[in-house]
Amino acid sequence: MNAFETLKEQVAQVSDVLNAISVLTWDARTQMPPGGAETRGEQLATLSSLAQERLISSELKAALDQAEAVSTDLIQTRTVQRVREAVSLFERIPPTLTAELARSKSVSQEVWAEARKGSDFGLFAPYLAQMIELNQRLAEAIGYTESPYDALLQQYEPGLTARTLQDLFSSLKDGVLPLLEAIRSRSEPRWDFLTRDFLEDQQRSFNVYAAELFGYDFTRGRLDTSAHPFEISFTRQDVRITTRYERRYLPMSLFGTLHEVGHALYEQGVAPELTRSALTSDFAGLYAVGGASYGTHESQSRLWENLIGRSLPFWERHFAKLQTVFPEQLGDVDTNTFYRAVNRVSPSLIRVEADEVTYNLHIMLRVELETALLNGTLEVAELPEAWNAKLGEYLGLTPPDDASGVLQDIHWSAGLFGSFPTYTVGNVMASQFFGAAKTQVAGLDEALAAGNYAPLRTWLTENIYQYGRTYTPQELLERSTGQSLTVAPYLEYLDQKYRDLYDL
Ligand code: ZN
Repeated sequence: MNAFETLKEQVAQVSDVLNAISVLTWDARTQMPPGGAETRGEQLATLSSLAQERLISSELKAALDQAEAVSTDLIQTRTVQRVREAVSLFERIPPTLTAELARSKSVSQEVWAEARKGSDFGLFAPYLAQMIELNQRLAEAIGYTESPYDALLQQYEPGLTARTLQDLFSSLKDGVLPLLEAIRSRSEPRWDFLTRDFLEDQQRSFNVYAAELFGYDFTRGRLDTSAHPFEISFTRQDVRITTRYERRYLPMSLFGTLHEVGHALYEQGVAPELTRSALTSDFAGLYAVGGASYGTHESQSRLWENLIGRSLPFWERHFAKLQTVFPEQLGDVDTNTFYRAVNRVSPSLIRVEADEVTYNLHIMLRVELETALLNGTLEVAELPEAWNAKLGEYLGLTPPDDASGVLQDIHWSAGLFGSFPTYTVGNVMASQFFGAAKTQVAGLDEALAAGNYAPLRTWLTENIYQYGRTYTPQELLERSTGQSLTVAPYLEYLDQKYRDLYDL
């Protein structure tokens, strides 16, 4: 074995541990009885420390030094770079902190689920306080120059800082708030039919149909049900998604599934030769993932869910099929009325159900609150009130209870501070990528109108998916669109679509 092969073999073993962590995580969120939470936490803690210990072992570091000396091509140099970054990171983070985070996460998620069910913030509060404290320690260990939030952001979106985020949010506000105001002066489109009785089995059958249309490969995936929808992969050969069903609200499982399919296409599209490598491992998050960053990943879920799944060409092509699944519920509705209903803009309490125009306001609210929690300028006990005040300020709403307010998202219970901004980054990137595909692929609009998604998927695979984590998000953007992260294409997309929809 040459020096690079030796490193590759050692990294593959770490990757196997990360994939095992993912299997246990998938099980915890879909199948595990609540009683399993505590021991599952111990198992995840053990595996996390094992992965971390292996990464900073003298054996691996020696292999890394030797591989660095002989690395020549892109894959080799980037592999060395990613492993080097991970080693440096874990030499800063004490293994006891990693283990403590993993252990606490498991219990805290279980308590959050219970607290959400009973809308009991007091039950979750001490666990949240502990998660904040652990993340503060994590930020100190990772290190930062300006804000502790920068240290945490790096885990999800390398290159993004609290400062650049502020600029991004303020340009977005400037574009979105006037659009929202104009929309609110118009009457709401009809959408009563979306709340008719849609049986779960039938919803599932259309979700499977749409997933296959987009190119999700069920021989390397499966669709299950969970409280909070997610996608998770155990190498590109086994990429799973989940959704949740609401009999009286069709869009929930439908667009939720399309969203997760977008994530899954990314993972299934990673080049086979990157399997079990540093370029399909998020060492910082101790997570096996093929995407370049959380934001890049979200750009794909948003692209397939919104830019395709909520587009007029998509429904002109597939609404008749949906009507055959639900003849009684949708027989009296025409395509355009359905299209307008699923794109209706209406400030709502729940982020995952939010329309495209108000979505990023939900993110801004969370980012402002989590920054304050981490900086210590907001106490956990004050959080529900602060949440409600901001929701009033941005969306003019007051939640009836904490379950539909501060307790709605799993993220804080899972210790994911700094991950919310990646949703907005994803929205912005999605429009940039889609714009580039449209100019570079001849006949793309015609193919999409004909229900042929292969040309788009091929462009995305060639420009994004196949590389895994070889390139940084910035490099992927610049190589495929010629631009860095910029909000203009996203704002243009929103403006065009919604001015047309609302006759503005
Ligand atoms: Zn997502």
